[in-house]
Amino acid sequence: MDQSIKNMMDLYGVTQRTERFLLCEQRMFINGEFVGAGDKETIDVLEPSTSSYLTSVPSGTTDDVDQAIAAARAALREGPWGKMKPAERERLLLKLADAIENDAQALGEIETIDNGKAIGPCIEMDILGGAELLRYMAGFATKLEGATRQVSIPGDHFAWTYREPVGVVGAIVPWNWPFNMAMWKMAAALAVGCTMVIKPAQQTSLSMLYFARLCQEAGLPPGVINIVTGRGSTIGDYLADHAGIDKVSFTGSTPVGRTVGEAAGRALSPVTLELGGKSPMVALNDADPKAVAAATRWSVYFNAGQVCSAGSRLYAHSAVYDNVVEELAKMTSAMKIAPGLDPDCDMGPVISESAMRGILGYVEQGKAEGADLVFGGNQVDRPGYFVEPTLFAAGDNNLSIVQEEIFGPVLVVLKFDSDEEALHMANDNIYGLAGSIWTQDISRALRYSTELEAGTIWINNHDIVDSNMPCGGFKQSGFGKDMGPEQLNYFTRTKAVWATI
Ligand code: NDP
Repeated sequence: MDQSIKNMMDLYGVTQRTERFLLCEQRMFINGEFVGAGDKETIDVLEPSTSSYLTSVPSGTTDDVDQAIAAARAALREGPWGKMKPAERERLLLKLADAIENDAQALGEIETIDNGKAIGPCIEMDILGGAELLRYMAGFATKLEGATRQVSIPGDHFAWTYREPVGVVGAIVPWNWPFNMAMWKMAAALAVGCTMVIKPAQQTSLSMLYFARLCQEAGLPPGVINIVTGRGSTIGDYLADHAGIDKVSFTGSTPVGRTVGEAAGRALSPVTLELGGKSPMVALNDADPKAVAAATRWSVYFNAGQVCSAGSRLYAHSAVYDNVVEELAKMTSAMKIAPGLDPDCDMGPVISESAMRGILGYVEQGKAEGADLVFGGNQVDRPGYFVEPTLFAAGDNNLSIVQEEIFGPVLVVLKFDSDEEALHMANDNIYGLAGSIWTQDISRALRYSTELEAGTIWINNHDIVDSNMPCGGFKQSGFGKDMGPEQLNYFTRTKAVWATI
């Protein structure tokens, strides 16, 4: 670990558990044991607010993936997990949720140091939110249902269905919510009795590796959860195409999602794809400008804009446009840009040098395309990968900064004069992850909720989630749902049983 990171940890203060964990050799978690990569290769991890060396994680090999899948299969077939009564599984998951909650401070610190995100929301949303989701899903362990069916063919038959765990799940998760996105897969998969191989993003594996210790402490049987770190292009692709995987659950970008979908298709594995977004926020002429500005500021600058459902396209009616922009400028100028460990941090760095270069490239493209840079647009003059909160005003819905996912703190605002025009512009995009509508008129809001092409619609809000509500996109934002009771269907399969009497 570089001295600059030690200094930062001293300045803000982190728990001893965090410090001890970050100083030890990082190992993958396969069959209940901590192991290095088969070929001993590692990947360096850089801390984004200093751009300094933090630690290294094993660069897992395809052999490591084979071992993890074999362990997950054995846990399902031979270990105690496959035979465990649902109530016992539920109790174990509740114990695991308690372990996460008890260690939320350390987990949050590790996630913040690894990813750069602000510590307060990280503990609250990523870590404690993950524990809550685990509790929510744990309750379903005892409540899976099938159906008895009347059948009309000749003879005397009883016929019924039941749902069984789909088997071994391969989960591939991104770096923007490393712990939380893994929990979005894990909570439901474990509740229904699956076992798992999880591949975190190569930049942000640490919270999962710490979590592995909690799995051990909580008494999760070996092989139920396996964590293989390494490069997506080698082990991620291999995992998705593997005959030993019964279900692929992926969250990440649309281009990689397409290759994962192809790989899963080759293996004939069912697949869930939670992909990118360019979510519109539509403020009608009666919207409250302050409320719109506050939600936009949160949605697009929180987590440095690295949020799949960020409201990164704001359509404001000409009656409220100036007020919304003015409020946004005021609110954004008061933001504290700082390392995520700073308790007052509103916005931390982006994940990496290449992500920062990509975002700044979009800023240049926006200027070249003729959009007005209202504020921001620069790298912040300090170590690390900090980009200013940025606002463009654009007159053309076809600009690349309006159409493409930038995945950084860049907002584009466009003016409109009629509801029809706004709806058309909002839907004129390849993505369909989420969107919000801002108005006091319930009829117009409801109309938008049916006509906006997105998996989640918020009315007078943006970017709120709950364990009991499904998340998942339409169009190029993927298919399938995480969270909510709907998710159980993606980790179970229906068996039909006939008895002739
Ligand atoms: P990527 O698609 O680059 O990576 C996601 C994961 O896929 C990583 O673990 C990565 O590993 C792995 N991967 C990379 N290449 C392959 C491959 N060929 N085969 C299999 N796996 C591979 O996404 P990011 O990590 O950059 O995450 C940001 C994206 O995720 C954004 O587009 C965002 O919108 C989306 N996202 C969507 C959410 C949703 O709910 N819809 C939620 C959160 C994020 P490695 O790190 O080693 O490259």
